Amino acid sequence: MRFSYHTHTTFCDGKAEPAAMAHAAYCHGYTHLGFSAHAPVPMRTRWNLVWEQTAAYLATIRQLAAEYEPKGMRILAGLETDYAPGITMPDNPAYTTLGLDYTIASVHYLTTAGEEPFTVDEPQEQFTKNVRRWAGTDHDRISRRYWEFMCAMIARGGFDIIAHFDIVKKNNADGRWFDTSSPAYLAAAQEAIDLAAQHGCVVEINTGGIARGKHHEVYPGPQLLRAMQEKDIPLTIGDDAHAPSHIGLHQHAAREAARAAGYRSFWYLEKPGVWKEVSLEEMERRHRRCE
Ligand SMILES: [Zn+2]
Ligand SMILES: [Zn+2]
Repeated sequence: MRFSYHTHTTFCDGKAEPAAMAHAAYCHGYTHLGFSAHAPVPMRTRWNLVWEQTAAYLATIRQLAAEYEPKGMRILAGLETDYAPGITMPDNPAYTTLGLDYTIASVHYLTTAGEEPFTVDEPQEQFTKNVRRWAGTDHDRISRRYWEFMCAMIARGGFDIIAHFDIVKKNNADGRWFDTSSPAYLAAAQEAIDLAAQHGCVVEINTGGIARGKHHEVYPGPQLLRAMQEKDIPLTIGDDAHAPSHIGLHQHAAREAARAAGYRSFWYLEKPGVWKEVSLEEMERRHRRCE
């Protein structure tokens, strides 16, 4: 089996049309593909779906779903929602009226209402400028704020999957901003893991950092994955694909990371609200459909 619930297209900041993304997934033998455009927000950004395009986005995904269902690939329509105080929340009532199949919830923003917004995954140069302005030399403020938001998001709920659990490390692959092995960092991450377990959250292994050469680790990294395994937190997979080339090629990285952390299975969303378990062995059986 192959699946991912984290796919972007030209409706937000992806590089390809939904049809091209679906075709790539089909060729790689995917059984389930979820589209997760960055949900509309009440301000202009370069990466969010805009409200006026939401109906067209959903209609396009539904049409692809009808096309691929008879061919053995289920397509689900979702959104990637933000926990961004003062801007939006994953449980924003405006999203629940859209009839989505699922949502994945993310912490990208490090800022709160009243602060000039900036995100953890900005290009390094932009990120550096923002951090200097916002945190000065107190670089640990980055990870403190991130885990504080992650905990608040989990406690609040209103989503199906937690996206890229430790994406705060994206601009920190070389450890230039903060130490991801420090007791304070790990305690903050553990608090989020404990909450995720308590709230029965499903967490994606996200291979987007690897696919785009931003980080050598998946999100969440090995240490956090082991802590999640101890708490029996169910995992799924998110390619975080922004181009067809991000689909299918990194599923092994997700499986290997899970295996190394002691996991023996993943979970996939069969249909809205219905999760099913699949063993790692079953997932390794390859069935590429196109040459
Ligand atoms: Zn994201
Ligand atoms: Zn994404």
